[in-house]
Amino acid sequence: MTNQTFLIDNLAFAARGERLEVSLPLSDFPRLCELIESQHIEAGAVKKHGDATGDSIQPEGLVNFTLNGEKNVLGQCYLHLTLDVSLTTSCQRCLTTMPLSLALNFHYLISDVDASPLDDVEASIGDDFDLQEASQEMDVKLLVEDEIILALPIAPVHSNDCAPVTMQSGEKPNPFAALKGLIKS
Ligand SMILES: [Zn+2]
Repeated sequence: MTNQTFLIDNLAFAARGERLEVSLPLSDFPRLCELIESQHIEAGAVKKHGDATGDSIQPEGLVNFTLNGEKNVLGQCYLHLTLDVSLTTSCQRCLTTMPLSLALNFHYLISDVDASPLDDVEASIGDDFDLQEASQEMDVKLLVEDEIILALPIAPVHSNDCAPVTMQSGEKPNPFAALKGLIKS
């Protein structure tokens, strides 16, 4: 955990066309870690807190993000956020760990409340941009964490046809094991 904070004056950041490029361990995002840990618990990969016999898995992963500021000819200030996340979660179908990668892009229009009423701005920008309030201390890390949490699948599963197959050693794989798993769930 690096405990770094990234506070920006978002209007000034955009006006100067600044760029922020950051790479942080997943452990820097406590709410995100908690969410991923709960998925591990759901899958039975880790025991709940307080269970002395349980192994605690520290969520691992990396978050890369780039924030670009832009001010257009009309004087509108924008932030462009590119996110790159790789982490390990648990598949909720076969209950094994699985890698999960997310690549996301966001565009924000900074609403300078003094300059124009928010409603007018909202009506004119459509769906391509999200609004971000003008702030001299916008917490970029918090924004990044929020966006990842919103984008994270609630019940992550492998994209291939994985299924809970339990096999005793020496036993032949049961062709109906996959079906059994389907019926159970
Ligand atoms: Zn799976």
